[in-house]
Amino acid sequence: MKTLYVKFVVFTILIMICSSILAFFISNAYYQQNLKPYNDEKITNIAKSIVEYAKKHPKIDLNEYLENVSSIGYQIYMIDHVGEDVFWGAPFRDKSLSNGTKEQVLNGDIYHGILHFPQQTFVTGFFANELKNTIGVPLTHNGKHYALFIRPDIKLLFNEMHLLFGWLLVLTIGLSIMIVLISTKYLVKPISKLTSATTSLSNGNFNVDLDSNRRDELGELSQSFLRMARKLEQIDDIRKEFISNISHDIQSPLSNIKGYADLLENESISTEEKRHYISIIHEEIGRLSTLTKQLLLLASLDRNDHILKKQSFNVGNQIKELVKTYQWQVSEKEIMLSYSLPDIEMIGDPSLLNTVWDNLFINAIKYNKTGGNIEISLAKKGESIFVTFTDTGIGLKETEIERIFDRFYRANTARTRTIEGTGLGLSIVWTIVRLHDGRIQVNSRENEGSTFIVELPVN
Ligand code: ADP
Repeated sequence: MKTLYVKFVVFTILIMICSSILAFFISNAYYQQNLKPYNDEKITNIAKSIVEYAKKHPKIDLNEYLENVSSIGYQIYMIDHVGEDVFWGAPFRDKSLSNGTKEQVLNGDIYHGILHFPQQTFVTGFFANELKNTIGVPLTHNGKHYALFIRPDIKLLFNEMHLLFGWLLVLTIGLSIMIVLISTKYLVKPISKLTSATTSLSNGNFNVDLDSNRRDELGELSQSFLRMARKLEQIDDIRKEFISNISHDIQSPLSNIKGYADLLENESISTEEKRHYISIIHEEIGRLSTLTKQLLLLASLDRNDHILKKQSFNVGNQIKELVKTYQWQVSEKEIMLSYSLPDIEMIGDPSLLNTVWDNLFINAIKYNKTGGNIEISLAKKGESIFVTFTDTGIGLKETEIERIFDRFYRANTARTRTIEGTGLGLSIVWTIVRLHDGRIQVNSRENEGSTFIVELPVN
């Protein structure tokens, strides 16, 4: 973060310096091209009018007159043929001026010192307080010839402006640097917060705090970062719960198997007991096998590598076949089974959909009361088919309905605990229905029964 901050500040200040230099060169070119000749012409005109006035009024005291002009804001130098010279106004810093120039002006030429002041001095040439930087004009008064050199007294005329512009410059630079320092901090701060949030995420702490109220790209980034953190936390919770559930579900049949195998080692037990223990071991192995089969199926559905092998088939016939295979379990529990399964063709993965009906039907038997009812119906409405399994079993509480499709969830009633199950069947059902772009709806009342309605697109 520090380097980004420093980079940003240095970069902005560099841009400021570069643009100042560029602006200086541009304004200098403008001064040399336009302002310098204009300034020269202006001063030349002023000098000419001074000369004109002196010429027209031979009676005035030249010394007094020029003293007056200088007090308005000019620096004046005058010399005659004999070499006698006088200065009025603020003294020149550099008084050197070639005798040739003085001679030329005495002989009637105009000297354009301002226009020809060296270009290397840039715009500052305007301020150079030198005798060379003047306009020289010939002046005749009372028959005597003089050379008059004049330039505006910049200090007198513009001193306040000078200071004002100086302060303006210093304040602009100072304030810009301060604003850059502060605004960069404001810009970079959320990035450094994101960095520490990332570190905390990678350390397994999902409780990150970010300012997601900003209405810019960084605000958006923070928001999606928070969403990602929440999602990761959920995934991590699910993973932990999954491992703990799975370990428990594998561990309990294994310890039962071990316990009964130990008992079988005892040679004094009767054949009757032996048979009983072996049948328990078989049951537990069956449980483990169902669990691993269901886990493998869920894993392949999750990985999406169980690409749907879709084909057209008769759903009504499929469910009728299934009902036949469970006939003996239905009669064993003295359940009244009724169904309406017309011939309806649909397109889907028959093997996966068979798993759906299988799980729903088994649940309707398992969670039913002895002597209860089961109704299965199939209907086509528009572009959808509806398969309904209704039972008059133990039913579910409102809060339980929300969770029955969660992996490993088993409604925690005393009765459910006596019924074999893994809590994976309905998650498999939900995943398969979703892969077919279908929906599943549950209506249930505790102690009255449940209805599971599966809606699937026909094509
Ligand atoms: P399993 O039946 O192996 O426990 P499922 O995923 O099939 O797992 O079902 C999850 C839970 O939903 C069951 O444990 C049970 O509590 C509840 N359940 C499912 N079907 C029914 C039903 N027809 N009647 C009442 N409860 C049901």
